[in-house]
Amino acid sequence: METVILAEDSKTGSVLGQMMLNEHEQVVFCYDKPSGLKAIIAVHNTVLGPAAGGTRMWAYQNEADALNDVLRLSRGMTFKNAVAGLNIGGGKAVIIGDARKDKTELLFRTFGKFVNNLNGKYITAEDVGIGTQDIEYVAMQTKYVAGKPETMNGSGDPSPVTARGVYVGMKAAAKKVYGSDSLAGKKIAVQGVGHVGEHLVKLLTQENAKVYITDIYEDVLKNIAQQYKVEIVAVDKIYDLDMDIYAPCALGATINDDTLARLKCSIIAGAANNQLKDEKVHADACQQKGILYAPDFLINAGGIINVYYEIIEQYNRERALQHAEKIYDYAYQLFLEAETQKINTHQAAMNIALKRIADMEKLQRNR
Ligand code: NAD
Repeated sequence: METVILAEDSKTGSVLGQMMLNEHEQVVFCYDKPSGLKAIIAVHNTVLGPAAGGTRMWAYQNEADALNDVLRLSRGMTFKNAVAGLNIGGGKAVIIGDARKDKTELLFRTFGKFVNNLNGKYITAEDVGIGTQDIEYVAMQTKYVAGKPETMNGSGDPSPVTARGVYVGMKAAAKKVYGSDSLAGKKIAVQGVGHVGEHLVKLLTQENAKVYITDIYEDVLKNIAQQYKVEIVAVDKIYDLDMDIYAPCALGATINDDTLARLKCSIIAGAANNQLKDEKVHADACQQKGILYAPDFLINAGGIINVYYEIIEQYNRERALQHAEKIYDYAYQLFLEAETQKINTHQAAMNIALKRIADMEKLQRNR
């Protein structure tokens, strides 16, 4: 498989044209009048196994934004799953709607029916805006869903494991930059304190890091500030903070020309998917500015690792956590590799993913 560098604003062209750009295998548009469901499911690549990746619920401004997001996210899942050593391909779904207002049982069960129609080519799970109750509804209509509640023998909310992976990935970056992986006393800005952000804040404050948080919702911020020793900053001020580590845990494309001109950190390590607005330009720019960028799809793989152990066998949390813990070594080795090869860290991670996919394609041909 070849891959082109993807820029956040590459939204032009026909649907098939956009699919061809990054060799997406299948894109399914879903509409249902009674439930009001409007969703898009994207299967990017199934060389390593059935496409797996969460569903995002978001009030997209328009259809083009939703399509662009699902195409980018599903492509990201292919590389995330490959680099984490999982035998699943890349896929993702988006539901167009406001997660605070538009959720109903009917909506999620209808979505489950659409997932079921793909007969296992795509396995869904949680992403932004989706909780375990929603997953439970989806699971009433299809077996091709993971991250089911523990009461249904599922792996539950993947966010704590995602946060653990981000945390160890951040520590590996600290080891590379500061010579020690201790985060005590480090000034860390967490952007977005939802499912993953909250668990990350917990781990960071336990280690006595100096944590700053921001979010678009006041109630979310208040809840975190009541539980942990943190300082709240305004949404747009986060980029101007005097900080050591910037941890994007909200949405993508926050590493761009504007923010890079403002960021004074030495490490970027967070949970958000597709953090680089333009993969080549902004990964190079981080390198030139002396910022160590921990590739998002490498260090935020904990959630899909957790879900994977529900997909392939009777779920075992210990096994999932052990695998997520390896993100420390994966990341540290990657930083060394990028340095030796004089390439940016994003490219180094992509090279590992692309090689694994190419190797497994050879294996399939050899049968
Ligand atoms: P979430 O919806 O629970 O939390 C996201 C938070 O970000 C929300 O509180 C939201 O209000 C806030 N937010 C949105 N826009 C913001 C902005 N401009 N500034 C500040 N805050 C903003 O989602 P989550 O599950 O915690 O996921 C966070 C990110 O991590 C997403 O990009 C997601 O794709 C990625 N991710 C999540 C998982 C997982 O296990 N949940 C796994 C891998 C990657």
